[in-house]
Amino acid sequence: MGTLALLLGARDLAFGASIIAVRVWPAADYTRVTIESDTALSAKHFMAENPSRVVIDVDGLELSPALRELVGKVRSDDPFIGGVRVGQNQPRVVRLVLDLKQATAPQVFTLAPVAAYQHRLVFDLYPTHERDPLLALIREKESAEQQAAKAVQDALGEFIGRLDKPVLPAPAASGALAAPPVAAASAPMTPAPAPEPGGKMERLIIVALDPGHGGEDPGAIGPSGLREKDVVLQVALQLREHINALPGMRAMLTRDADFFVPLHERVRKARRVQADLFVSIHADAFMTPQARGASVFALSRNGASSATARWMADHENAADLVGGVNIKAKDATVVRTLLDMSTTAQIKDSLKLGGEVLGQIGKVGHLHRGSVEQAGFAVLKAPDIPSILVETGFVSNPEEESRLRDPRYQAQLVAALTAGIKRYFAKNPPLARQRAL
Ligand SMILES: [Zn+2]
Repeated sequence: MGTLALLLGARDLAFGASIIAVRVWPAADYTRVTIESDTALSAKHFMAENPSRVVIDVDGLELSPALRELVGKVRSDDPFIGGVRVGQNQPRVVRLVLDLKQATAPQVFTLAPVAAYQHRLVFDLYPTHERDPLLALIREKESAEQQAAKAVQDALGEFIGRLDKPVLPAPAASGALAAPPVAAASAPMTPAPAPEPGGKMERLIIVALDPGHGGEDPGAIGPSGLREKDVVLQVALQLREHINALPGMRAMLTRDADFFVPLHERVRKARRVQADLFVSIHADAFMTPQARGASVFALSRNGASSATARWMADHENAADLVGGVNIKAKDATVVRTLLDMSTTAQIKDSLKLGGEVLGQIGKVGHLHRGSVEQAGFAVLKAPDIPSILVETGFVSNPEEESRLRDPRYQAQLVAALTAGIKRYFAKNPPLARQRAL
């Protein structure tokens, strides 16, 4: 028996996993912790209270300095993790304790080696109660309008703002600020309505902006190191500002920080806010460094419009493998079924939108091809939302990489995207919103 135990011990030491890296990706949506190792790891977890924490026991692992680094990698502003403790629970079992800041539903899963990664053990910490994104968007819009109105009022002087019950004729201020005229006596008890700069909109137009990749998935990396996930986030954040500045419009980002969002989740987020448009933003690499120019893609029902388009769609659809999706999560299959309902009408509108955007981008930079291309991009499959994917340029082309990094070019690109979206809505006014969900 003693010999057997010794033999087992020796074998186990030889096969013990080494940690390659630990990474933490905090975000309001969820925080991910990744442990990358040269051998597959397995883990069990349970929740504990007082204080609220998740306890994870990782098998086949000895405590190492690389693992201890995790403690220092949790940021104080992490929405989910308050602190981490790491210890050797038993021989070959490392216990991680994550102290929680809010009610959390963790998902623990493993990912096989892919791209530049070896084995990954992933802990995703999701909130138990998901907030309502549409409600959040409407509230944000209202508070922005109130702030804008208040700023105007302040600028015109306090006394104008206090003309709720004017005894003098209303001053010749802008319509937005005019107090109810004295003559309008039909509802004398009604308090002054909240100011509505730009007039009352029929309804809020919502544009879903989808910066590609993020977190574990860097996207393409340029010859001098520019990462696609960073540049597309910069562009999307600026585009949000431009869209939010348009009356009656609001942008919703599928991610506003450096974390990974699975493809089906991007579509689901857009549908949850009943988005009128979906614009996915990318800056990929291509097979040759000479390839250059922007392109715009829509969904296709019958195969790709070119070999390039097919290659691009295959490439983008592989993002979930690199980014890391828990295939056991039950909502993934439901959404996938939904995605197959894509309609001809959606594609028709997407091509119109794509045409407008391509036309505007063509004014500020090179185009890879002069027409909107089509292929089976998973992220464009919302059946009820016109959806395009914009390749802003090839980060693999050294010249385009430096342009994409340049804030002046980014600003031009953002202006072009905004103009394209505006032109689309001018020609295709959105209908009254149907509450489909
Ligand atoms: Zn991409």
